[in-house]
Amino acid sequence: MPRLSRRNIISSLLPGLARITGFDARSPERPVSSRKTIWRLLVLTALSGMAMAGDDIPGPAGPAVDARLRGSFFEQARPAISNLLVETENLGGRKMVFVAAEEGESVVARCPYDVERQEPRIFLRQGWLDVDVAHEAMHMRLDLVEGFGMLAWRRDVRHADAVLAAFGRVQTYVKDEVVHARLVKMGLKVDGEVIRPNLFDSIYRNATRYMEEGRDRPNDGMAHLDKLGYGVLCRVCFLVQAELLLNNYRDKLSPGRIALVEKFICTFRAQRPAESARADKILELFRRNDVQTPAGHDEILRAWAKVEGLVKFVGVTCYRKEQESHYTLPFPE
Ligand SMILES: [Zn+2]
Repeated sequence: MPRLSRRNIISSLLPGLARITGFDARSPERPVSSRKTIWRLLVLTALSGMAMAGDDIPGPAGPAVDARLRGSFFEQARPAISNLLVETENLGGRKMVFVAAEEGESVVARCPYDVERQEPRIFLRQGWLDVDVAHEAMHMRLDLVEGFGMLAWRRDVRHADAVLAAFGRVQTYVKDEVVHARLVKMGLKVDGEVIRPNLFDSIYRNATRYMEEGRDRPNDGMAHLDKLGYGVLCRVCFLVQAELLLNNYRDKLSPGRIALVEKFICTFRAQRPAESARADKILELFRRNDVQTPAGHDEILRAWAKVEGLVKFVGVTCYRKEQESHYTLPFPE
């Protein structure tokens, strides 16, 4: 079975596995380009080598950092969340490696699977909470243990950053529907834990106001992918997420929050009709397929990628566990 190169794998993973934390996570810098990622990994490799040489210097990666962050996680995490991590590591046969993220990271946590090292590496930025680790551990569980699929580059296609950003966006929104449902089932709070306040404040509050003011698209608070030519997709994602949030968790949100999301939806539908029509197509996919099952989830990924004209570049594939819990990600068929 063909395997993806290191570059293929890393670039196919990064976008899908970054925690959605609202405005920050949707900046155009995200997802990181594969070149930048490789460079970072090389730097991290060098630093981790230094740390292994015995210097306990503070650095972003290495056994000392891993031990420190892991220790701090187990000190502060609630039992359900510690259990989730330990159980997932046992089921997957791989330990999560904790890495300190760079200051400038726009997401608080992300967890790409590094196939060269055969390590799920969780990058945590200052200010991380146990729920951020829970979110990433849940991604790892769905992808490595439960057979949920991924969008990944097809063989022999050119890897354009714009396409990467687009399929990363689709993937993040679909996968997070599953992650969020699982975290809610674990007893985490929808408002503030599963969904961070940023989404309500940056998008539902601010973007609504900007649209009401009649601002043009480049200035409407949802322009994150405009320069890459995927502005429609970006806005569609916000509406899809808002509709699903109310459908699935209305009873777990305060009246104030519900009113905020409803106003966003209503304003969006009035001001952005083309994007709304596109979002309705995607919402129909969610109605027809159960995103909470691997088959339904993968079908939504496939069909949404098709709506966006991405299937020439990417397809759905799934991690394969081999000897000694080594994982490969075959090219999509
Ligand atoms: Zn996520």
